[in-house]
Amino acid sequence: MRILVVGGGGREHALCWALRRDLPEATLFAAPGNPGTAALATNLATPASATDALVDAAAAQRIDLTIIGPEGPLAAGLADRLRAVGRLVFGPTQAAAQLESSKAFAKEVMRRAGVPTAASGTFSDIVSAQFYISTHSTPLVVKASGLAAGKGVVMCATREEALRTARAMLEEGAFGEAGREVVVEAFLEGEELSVLALTDGERIAILPPAQDHKRLGEGDSGPNTGGMGAYSPVSFATPDLLARVRREVLEPTLRELASRGTVYAGVLYAGLMVAKDGTLRVLEFNCRFGDPETQVVLPVLRRGATADLVAIASGGWRPSADLLPATGAAVTTVLAARGYPERPESGAGITLPEDLGPDVLVFHAGTTRDATGALRVSGGRVFAVTALAGSVKDAARVSAAASARIAFDGKTYRRDIAWREIARAGAA
Ligand code: AMP
Repeated sequence: MRILVVGGGGREHALCWALRRDLPEATLFAAPGNPGTAALATNLATPASATDALVDAAAAQRIDLTIIGPEGPLAAGLADRLRAVGRLVFGPTQAAAQLESSKAFAKEVMRRAGVPTAASGTFSDIVSAQFYISTHSTPLVVKASGLAAGKGVVMCATREEALRTARAMLEEGAFGEAGREVVVEAFLEGEELSVLALTDGERIAILPPAQDHKRLGEGDSGPNTGGMGAYSPVSFATPDLLARVRREVLEPTLRELASRGTVYAGVLYAGLMVAKDGTLRVLEFNCRFGDPETQVVLPVLRRGATADLVAIASGGWRPSADLLPATGAAVTTVLAARGYPERPESGAGITLPEDLGPDVLVFHAGTTRDATGALRVSGGRVFAVTALAGSVKDAARVSAAASARIAFDGKTYRRDIAWREIARAGAA
């Protein structure tokens, strides 16, 4: 089997790792990949944004299955293009991917499907946004509707701030096209949970639940990022809670899309806020594996998910009752470059020890090799350092210790990944 993974971050390295584990004989390609995927796959020098070139590359390499990692190519219709020429793809169509590429669309689908989410309004002009802001209580959250790499969400403590933010997006071009439409919604209290589910549009298999750490600083302080670390499983995500996510969120969303003629097949990722009283609400949908959640969710699976991805792409998938149970726990710590997320510095040389331990997986994200073959920083998130152990607490300790041993100038990371879970375990 010849499999192409589109993308070049930590998520795609983790996907290649999982594919290699499940299918030792497969021929793997990554486009563009990174120095980490190069050890498992052939990297093709085609960026994930080059739709035409990727369709050509899939033909030239006689690819049997393409797995699309990032949201950009899904929103650009890469899955549709590949299917149109008869290729198997894991990843939703452009129409289905609107669940992520348009927050306005996602809100409308949720409203029609009765899926619990924050009260909100969608606006493309400042006058109607202003009316909504002036008649709703703060704090408010103002979101660019389009794709903004996790940065288009602004928490606003006051109405003035909400109005300023909406104006910057709608009238001053902050976030470009993505901000030409905004969603203004109520601020939700609670704890976040990432639930990733495999689906063929009808059947659903929920993967082990994870929690991301969006803020740059320890104790969840500082600016929002693409994600500074994650762990899985999450103890408050009980089987009962996950059954509710299936019933209240995933099934009605898929049904509503199907009623519009859109079959959603791929990973459906629900970013949830779970309140103290157990109420759950959707913050956002993603139409692909999360980054960095993938770096913990795939390693904790008892058996690999590759057979499921293939069956979803080719049709006739039957999730088994015991699908994908977690064993033990995984914690990943993201090592970022100095200046991330605003202005990450690249170029620093990296010292990556070989002997980080048998239960440590180092996933490359923003790394490159220079002309001499030396590893250098080339992006905001440089590595995701995953540790596996019997408990989240032990995995967190191993991940933090391994992270301390990887060296590059400007290394920025949180030493408290999974702190909420560890506090819960301590209180229990
Ligand atoms: P989103 O891209 O919509 O998930 O927003 C990014 C992050 O902003 C989420 O992971 C939350 O941490 C936060 N967030 C988004 N919407 C809300 C909300 N309504 N209330 C509180 N926090 C939010």
